[in-house]
Amino acid sequence: MIQILHKLWRNHGGLHLDYHKEDSNAAPTKHLPMAEELIIPLQQHSGYKPTLTVNAGDYVYKGQELASHTGFMKVPVHASTSGTITAIEERPIAHPSGLSDVCIILKPDGKDDWGNARMPTYPDPSQVDGEVLRQRICAAGIVGMGGAVFPAAIKLNVHDNIPIEALVINGAECEPYITCDDRLMREKPVEILRGVQIMMHIIATQRCLIGIEDNKPEAIAAMQAAREELGDQRIAIIPIPTLYPSGSEKQLIKILTGKEVPSGGRPATIGIVCHNPATARAIYRAVVLGEPLIDRYLTITGKGVAQPCNVEVPLGTPIQHLIAHSGGYTQKKPLPSPPLIREGSQEGSYSSPDKGRLGGVSLIMGGPMMGVSLHTDQIPVVKATNCILVSDIPESEQQPALPCIRCGRCAEACPVTLLPQQLYWHSRARDFDKAEQYHLFDCIECGCCSYVCPSHIRLVDYYRFAKAEIRTQREAKTKANIARERHDFHQERLERAKREKAEKLAKHKEQAQTTTDDGKKAAIQAALERAKAKKAEAAQTTTGETTE
Ligand code: SF4
Ligand code: SF4
Repeated sequence: MIQILHKLWRNHGGLHLDYHKEDSNAAPTKHLPMAEELIIPLQQHSGYKPTLTVNAGDYVYKGQELASHTGFMKVPVHASTSGTITAIEERPIAHPSGLSDVCIILKPDGKDDWGNARMPTYPDPSQVDGEVLRQRICAAGIVGMGGAVFPAAIKLNVHDNIPIEALVINGAECEPYITCDDRLMREKPVEILRGVQIMMHIIATQRCLIGIEDNKPEAIAAMQAAREELGDQRIAIIPIPTLYPSGSEKQLIKILTGKEVPSGGRPATIGIVCHNPATARAIYRAVVLGEPLIDRYLTITGKGVAQPCNVEVPLGTPIQHLIAHSGGYTQKKPLPSPPLIREGSQEGSYSSPDKGRLGGVSLIMGGPMMGVSLHTDQIPVVKATNCILVSDIPESEQQPALPCIRCGRCAEACPVTLLPQQLYWHSRARDFDKAEQYHLFDCIECGCCSYVCPSHIRLVDYYRFAKAEIRTQREAKTKANIARERHDFHQERLERAKREKAEKLAKHKEQAQTTTDDGKKAAIQAALERAKAKKAEAAQTTTGETTE
């Protein structure tokens, strides 16, 4: 029984779920043989695509940069092992609509050779300037590894005018089935805590709260032992009650500090920075060992896979390879299927992006509540991949959606105290202004409302659809504004050029006129002078003749 000593706060709503953590968390994390081909998507973070720095045919060392981060909101990607770039081409990526994107295809040479690709190391980061460390985190391609994949260096770029009261480490791992953070905290607690110390140094805080749900007693014990080993009393390991979705960033901050992140705000605005244990470990490795982010822990689990487990694999490893080394599918192998989202679908026939179904099994990247369905197992492990959930429930067994009976259970369950039913109506009616008035963008897509809905309405699908539409409309509006500004600027430039040309012409004319006038005056003056001189000469001649 874990004793809770730190004062904790309670969020609204939330659910007790069937967790199924024991399916995968008992055995140590496995290391698999290298796949024959690694598929490394260019963009693995929220932001803009990095710039390619290699070509097909190039030989690359392990850890070598493949795409650079120069520019705003760009994060580099690196070679997960040594080998040859065989192609740079579009491949399917983890996206509910089955999108493809640019990927670097790397054929490993089996040597796993770093060459000179390791970055210089900082054995004692406490003696290094925080900004230098932050730049290192950026160059190492580190993003939030809890799934949000926001660039970690940007999150650590705090403003001097808001002192950071505490660093919060999110070890809650509240989604059912996922156990990779649990295993990481059991197996690498010292590395996580050393990463935590680096972050505390960068953001200049003296307090770190590590929240871990109390269904992970081994992880809590391992982290507490590591804290004792490091002797750092600034760090508190805090067990929290198991209640979904305590691992959502805003919810965890409220539980641990009592503070609420304002609507539309970021934790840093209330003096908190929040990161994941895997991110902390990646930071330790980048700073102290000089290693970029090229691998990660993840869980392969669900009734559809024979031997659920945790693995640590190079980024770019195809999911098919993971499944093959986890005993294979329990059902027949999934077949590629068409994209799952159909715009304008009617209730009851609306395809769910969080439950990909393929020939008798479903593949989900992430957990069952917030994960993204995959339409093929040819998709690679990326920085965001914390879990591959293989379900054996075929699509035909999914409950069809029925009309809303206004029971209000969705509102009771919502941890953000939203009104999911209203959001649903407005999103469905494409009344996006109204949906925004009901704080659509505060929805964390936790799925609690869908889970409790007796009418089996996949509410989150509607919110995701509405958010995507609003973002698309905003982008279109921004593009139109930019185009209009460009056009206005172009017109103004043309008119200015015309005006300047006319002014120049007038000036020339004036100058020419002045020159002509001056010339004429000078000629007249010269003629007058000549006439005067002639006259004087003639007068003198006449006077001489008279005298003689
Ligand atoms: S839980 Fe479902 S049926 Fe009940 S009010 Fe919400 S949307 Fe309607
Ligand atoms: S998905 Fe959104 S609306 Fe539904 S319970 Fe979670 S936060 Fe509330």
